Amino acid sequence: MTHVFNFSAGPAVLPKEVLEQAAAEMLDWHGSGMSVMEMSHRGPEFMSIIEQAERDLRELLDVPPNYRVLFLQGGGLGENAIVPMNLVGRKPQPATIDFVHSGSWSGKSIAEARRYANVNVAAAPSGGAFTHIPPQESWQLTPDAAYLHICTNETIDGVEFNFVPTVQGDTPIVADMSSHILSRRVDVSKYGVIYAGAQKNIGPAGLTIVLVREDLIGHALPICPSIFDWKLVSDANSMFNTPPTYSIYIAGLTFQWLKKQGGVAALEKRNIEKATLLYEALDADGFYQNRVERSCRSRMNVPFFLRDESLNEQFLAGAKARGLLQLKGHKSVGGMRASLYNAMPVEGVRALVDYLNEFAGR
Ligand code: PMP
Repeated sequence: MTHVFNFSAGPAVLPKEVLEQAAAEMLDWHGSGMSVMEMSHRGPEFMSIIEQAERDLRELLDVPPNYRVLFLQGGGLGENAIVPMNLVGRKPQPATIDFVHSGSWSGKSIAEARRYANVNVAAAPSGGAFTHIPPQESWQLTPDAAYLHICTNETIDGVEFNFVPTVQGDTPIVADMSSHILSRRVDVSKYGVIYAGAQKNIGPAGLTIVLVREDLIGHALPICPSIFDWKLVSDANSMFNTPPTYSIYIAGLTFQWLKKQGGVAALEKRNIEKATLLYEALDADGFYQNRVERSCRSRMNVPFFLRDESLNEQFLAGAKARGLLQLKGHKSVGGMRASLYNAMPVEGVRALVDYLNEFAGR
């Protein structure tokens, strides 16, 4: 089998052990004679899979008991509509949602939310380049906002929050953690809602994980489709409709793998090591450039540029020849991007750093 390191931003690399276990169990899950894909979602076999996945996720993130874990569909972009449809009804209409515009993904969240509420962009970087998180002192928050939305890791721009905002009154914070959930410790109790598409740090596309504080459930607007009404989904233990069963199964295997690695704290340590190795190589002598302010640099998604962009194709071809895949940057920003999710081993980052050094003629 060809050995590669896959730096894709998502869908992305999964732990080899998870894929091996899934392969071994593909035709016959635990002596049931069935593939997980073939099981009734309400049968005892699948019930045990989803319940174990929820227990493990709660343990990994230390989710307080007054939070519900929902296994949904619709992806990160789906949540851009689902969140306002579930939360703006808590306030007199028209409600206002505060946003921090820190990159492409929060930008998409802002555009979608305008369909459901007034939007206040409380902070956006001056000059329009998404290279930092504006300091909290500069934010213009609304006193009675329905919620404050942040994207805690901007996958395209490579900008990551390294603090939890403080809010006034009872304004809940909603965080899109799609591209860094489970990569670092997080105090769930500081957030009203955390959501993440699974296809980066958790498992296959098709599954969205939502953690929501109980008091925020039960306020859906009448226009909210029933399958996205957190109350209905929560009351049905994520079985209001057929959930993405196979994606939940793989997510569960990933949670088990994370526990075996030592949990989120151990992964965070490894992720710091990986990111440090890569940024040091990028910063060495100006041959490469990462444009994000150091304090806001993402550990998960590292965009970078070659000083001489006419070498881009040559760089990518050389990387591919070494099995270093999917390093091309997002089309909206160009350049390169290396994603270093939990399943990317340190050896993968070392191989990339060796190549960066060689290509730069160091
Ligand atoms: N938010 C973030 C931070 C993302 O990285 C992505 C996907 N790259 C999305 C939202 C959108 O997710 P989906 O494609 O699952 O709708």
